[in-house]
Amino acid sequence: MTKANDFPEYEAIHTILLDRDGVINEDSPEFIKSPEEWCPIPGSLEAIARLTASGFRVVVISNQSGLARGLLDLKTLKAIHGKMLKAVAQAGGRIEAIYYCPHSPGDECQCRKPNPGLLLQFAADFKADLRRTLLIGDSWRDVEAAQAVEAHAILVKTGKGRMTLRQHPHPGIPVFDNLYQASNVLTKNKITQPIP
Ligand SMILES: [Mg+2]
Ligand SMILES: [Zn+2]
Repeated sequence: MTKANDFPEYEAIHTILLDRDGVINEDSPEFIKSPEEWCPIPGSLEAIARLTASGFRVVVISNQSGLARGLLDLKTLKAIHGKMLKAVAQAGGRIEAIYYCPHSPGDECQCRKPNPGLLLQFAADFKADLRRTLLIGDSWRDVEAAQAVEAHAILVKTGKGRMTLRQHPHPGIPVFDNLYQASNVLTKNKITQPIP
């Protein structure tokens, strides 16, 4: 049983950084290449709405190597994100920004997770303290990107989460079934206050 006071370290968190595929929407080994293929994981839109209502800033941090692989173009990615933002808004939530890496693993860029470039870009844009952010992901590279900049991290079992846990059975960070369950704990813990 998870109780709110099991996680006192989350009281200072101001921003929830969300991986996209496998956390907000169902992942696919064939990549998400069109708005039609973008389908929210049950409860994820409500989870974002609850995080928003509790005063968290919600920001998406996503690897999108499908761009470099030629599987989709930027216009289609924007359409996918348009569908996501609309679905979140209709549920009563708000995503303040979407950061994505368009490169392929071979590009050796600084923004593809496990590198923390997207988190650093967010921190610069929002003048945010990354130690007061929490990244929720389903892959180990999400955890590594967070830990590289002293951000908190949570794993969810949706998407690649179960596979990640087989490879890292003792992740040393909290694990939740899905984003909705994580949002339950985070919103209970939150002392609602304006973002500084
Ligand atoms: Mg993912
Ligand atoms: Zn990149």
